[in-house]
Amino acid sequence: MQYAEPIDRLIKALSRLPGVGEKSATRIALFILNSRNEYADELAASVAGLKEKVALCSGCMTFSDADPCRICANPARDAHTICVVSDFKDMVAIEGMGGYRGSYHVLHGNLAPLKGVGPDEIRIKELLGRVEADGVKEVILATGFDPEGESTSVYLARLLKPCGVKITRIASGIPVGSFVEYMDGATLGRAMEGRKEVVA
Ligand SMILES: [Zn+2]
Repeated sequence: MQYAEPIDRLIKALSRLPGVGEKSATRIALFILNSRNEYADELAASVAGLKEKVALCSGCMTFSDADPCRICANPARDAHTICVVSDFKDMVAIEGMGGYRGSYHVLHGNLAPLKGVGPDEIRIKELLGRVEADGVKEVILATGFDPEGESTSVYLARLLKPCGVKITRIASGIPVGSFVEYMDGATLGRAMEGRKEVVA
């Protein structure tokens, strides 16, 4: 059916969210419409504030409202070990498992030449800069086990090898094509513990 223009506009905007089809978008829009004004205001303010207040940490490139982010700024975290992930949500998955005490580097994507994503399109330059600077002992490659994640890992291992740091890859042992974010805590913990040195 045809809704009033403001409702239609919200439904269209919501339908673009991952996993939200037009049906769910309509349900959400009607929910907002039926809720108290304060809720709609709070929702609008948090969406607006997100882009304003959250930027990338200049160290690990994660989304953060402080620079450096809380992990990079924490002296209890081992800055000499860098776990490289494709996405913010993978970092959240590893962090959620609780046992990792090193730092991270978020690439914001994987290499995908067929989709036009080359080394300059993701945060590889920044990773290289960190590894070339003194002190990094180990780089853990925790990109996914899908073809793009694998080729990104192989590319990084070759790129970082001349820096003389230890390069490891988290153990697979999980169904091919799985992403780090879909592993449960125990599987992720085993994958991290069973990481093997990469011979590039
Ligand atoms: Zn950081």
